[in-house]
Parts: sequence; structure tokens; C-alpha cells
Amino acid sequence: MKAIPTAGVARDEVFDRLGKFRCKDLDTKGGRTWAYVYDSGHPELFEIADRAYLEYLHENALDPTVYPSLLQLENEVVGMAASHLRAGEGVVGNFTTGGTESIMMVVKAVRDWARENRPEIKRPNMILPVTAHAAFHKAAHYFDVETVVTPVDPSTWKADVDAMADAINGDTVLLVGSAVSYAHGVVDPIPELGRLALERERFLHVDGCIGGFVLPYFRRLGAPVTDFDFAVPGVSSISMDLHKYAYTPKGASVILYRNADLRRHQLYACASWAGYTVINTTFQSTKSGGALAAAWAVMNYLGDSGYMEIFDRTLKATQAVIEGVDAMEDLEIMGRPESSLVAMTSATVNVFEIVDEMRELGWYVQPQLGFDISKENIHLSVGGSSLPIVPALLADLAKSVEAARPNGPAEPDENLAALLSTLDPEKLDSATFDALLASAGMGSTDNSDAMALPDRTAGINALLNQCPDALKERLLVEYFNRLYVP
Ligand SMILES: *Cc1c(COP(=O)(O)O)cnc(C)c1O
Repeated sequence: MKAIPTAGVARDEVFDRLGKFRCKDLDTKGGRTWAYVYDSGHPELFEIADRAYLEYLHENALDPTVYPSLLQLENEVVGMAASHLRAGEGVVGNFTTGGTESIMMVVKAVRDWARENRPEIKRPNMILPVTAHAAFHKAAHYFDVETVVTPVDPSTWKADVDAMADAINGDTVLLVGSAVSYAHGVVDPIPELGRLALERERFLHVDGCIGGFVLPYFRRLGAPVTDFDFAVPGVSSISMDLHKYAYTPKGASVILYRNADLRRHQLYACASWAGYTVINTTFQSTKSGGALAAAWAVMNYLGDSGYMEIFDRTLKATQAVIEGVDAMEDLEIMGRPESSLVAMTSATVNVFEIVDEMRELGWYVQPQLGFDISKENIHLSVGGSSLPIVPALLADLAKSVEAARPNGPAEPDENLAALLSTLDPEKLDSATFDALLASAGMGSTDNSDAMALPDRTAGINALLNQCPDALKERLLVEYFNRLYVP
């Protein structure tokens, strides 16, 4: 375990060491990383963001009455986001640290609204299409709200409105739709869900975390886009990340409400202690103003025309990826992507092997495990820097498919699956978890400076892909519980 060094380390040495730590990290710039990071293709945008971030790095957004500029920045950023989503008078919102926080805030707001207005509801629930983001399950877990998961159409991957209507019961407080869903990049039938929400008097949240910013631009560029925003009657709230496709630094999202009556239940005040009076809009109390200032700066610097130009390239790049993959015999696009996200699967080749082959060729493409009726697949987030490198991506994808083909498709191992299904994660001891993790290639966590993380991940993914969900979740927790040891 490290201790604070007895004497301070020289400035150059500090930065040398930081630089060395990063040698195995994914590239964040240049477009070869097709998930997690978003590169607009404008190198100067990083400078704009960095400068604004640093200007507000040390300010504390805890109390807007002492940093009124932070209140102004937040209202302006929320205003830009809301107008982008065709908000009318009365729409309000807040800046949060990310999509997860935005979603957790709306689930809390709806739960607390129900506590006040529907006191007869003891176990509030929300109806989720199976494609809804994990953040809703996390919110349910944290705030003790039940989830009712409903199927999606197996060819379009869109929410099944009738199934959601049938799932509504007396305890239902919230319906959820995505625009777009992360896994398949499609918009749920939001206009129909809006009608359902109005008819049954429930709240409807639209998760526009990853698609919300992109879709209005794609619509204006002529792509067919299902309506999803505040122009749709019945939509009561929308989450939209800025740190994805608005190209602002991490720690930036907004949660928007059609009116302040519901938003009120998101806010938290505490006067029951001896210190300063606490009033928080979101989770955090003390927080830097950096991400907010950077979001404000990037959105103002690019402006609508800057974003249009980025999304014009993004739409072309997405179409080129789809066409290229459609032409490959072994790969198949799942559904018809409506934004800049593409999922592809294969009946003949193990997609996890393709991911590893691509990694060796210097690309990061994201493996998605099989879940429910969605087969294991590869996810790509196309961005502003993608267009010029699509041909290289497709060429290397073809090479990776060739390299992986001899091993055939991801065959479920019946014996392993049978064994895994007999394991009750609640009853396993620590030694068994050690053995399971080791057998999956997730064993070694020697506490050297360079944490031993696996180079090839196909084996791990293949094992996880066959685990029952509860075991998979527990294995991941056990793994991280071993990984984060100082
Ligand atoms: C990314 C994402 C989230 C979660 O956002 P974070 O910023 O990672 O917390 C929620 N919903 C969708 C559809 C997303 O793509």
C-alpha cells in the first residue's frame, strides 16, 4: 500500500509518473476508440473546454448565492438543452454529472411526488422496456422503486407499447422510453407512449442521454427520426447527456422537466443539523464548476452551425458504417439504427474474438453481452472524427472477421452453462469466487503499479455471456472488490 511520500516529489517527476500510468489507456482522440469517448473532429474544441474547465475548476457550485455566475451558466446550459428539445414555457431542469445522475434524479422526483400525491402507493414501480439503460435499475435499487421489465419488438428492438400498457398497475408511477437506446440505437415509439401516459395519467421519462442531442440534428439533415422530445404530448421529463454528443468534457448532463411542480421533488434541503443550511439540486453538495463552465463554453463556441457540420459528417459516417457492415457476409446490423450508434452481430463468427482482433489492430470496439432476446454483439458509437477513418475501420473489421472465423461462432458450452446455473451467488464463499474468477481469466490482481488487466477479453466475455444475470452481477462485484485494493 502506498503512503503519502515523506518528501514531496518534484513537479516534473509528478507529471512523468502520470504519463507513464497512462501507457495502457485507450486513445481518447483520433477516433479509433468507438465507445466511452467522443471526439468531435475539432482539435481546438479540447482547448476551449480545457480553458473554461480550468477557469472554474476551483469554484464551488455548492451555493449559487455566492457564485452567481454558476447559477447563470447552469440556467443558460439548461436553456440551450431545453430549446434544442423543443421545450415550451415552464420547462425547467438542472445540470448533473452524467446520465446516471440525471436518471436517478427523475426516479427520485417521481417517487417523492407519489409519496405526496399518491400516499396509497406503498411499492411504487416503473415500467421499463428491456432495452432501457442500466441506470434505471440502479435508480430502482438506490431509491427502492420496483422495476417491471417489458419485451421489445425482436426485429426493430423498440419498446412494445401494448406490453407496457398491460404492465401498468395501481402502483405504477413512471413509464420509460429511450431516444435512443444504447444497445441498438433506436428510438422507442415515444408518441404512442406519450398517449399512453396521458390516458393512464402516469409520468413518461424519455432517456435521451445518448440520442437526445444527436437526433434533432439528424432530423434536420433529412434522416427519418421518430418524435421524442417536449413537442410530444405526455413526455414529462427528458435526460440528455452533454458529455457524449454535445462534445463537452465528462461530468455533464441535464435533467429536464416539463414543469417545476415535478422538479421540486428532485431538490433536497436539510436544516436539521448545526452547520450551514444545505439545499442541493442534485446528488453532490460541494462540486467544481469546471464541467458546467466547459459545457457552456463548448456549446457557445460551436453554436448550432458548428454542431450541424459535425452531425452532417457523423450521419455520413454512420451510413457508411452501416453500408459497409451490411455488405459483409458474416456480420449483421441489429435493427435500423436511428442515431449514431450501431450494433452488429454474427451467426458465423464469435463477436468477442472480433473485439480482441480489433484491439490488436489498434481499435476499440465495444462488446455487448447477450441479454434476453438480444444476442451478443459489437457496439460502435460513431462520432465527429469517424468519417475519414471508416474505410480503415471496415478493412480491419473484415480482417478481424477472417482471423476469428476459423474458431466459429460463440458456441454456448452446455456443461459450463449447466454448472453455472446451479451456482447460487448468495451461497458461494470467497474461495469459490477466487476460483471462478481465475477460470475466467479475471484472477490475477497482483498489486503492482501496473494493475494486471487481461489483454484478450474473449474468454471472460464468453463466460459472462453464459452466466445467469445474478451470478454475472455478483462475479463483477467480486472482481472489482478485488481490483480496488490500494
Ligand atoms: C450513457 C447512457 C446513460 C448513462 O449515462 P452516464 O453518463 O454514463 O451516467 C443512460 N442512458 C443512455 C441511453 C446512455 O447511453
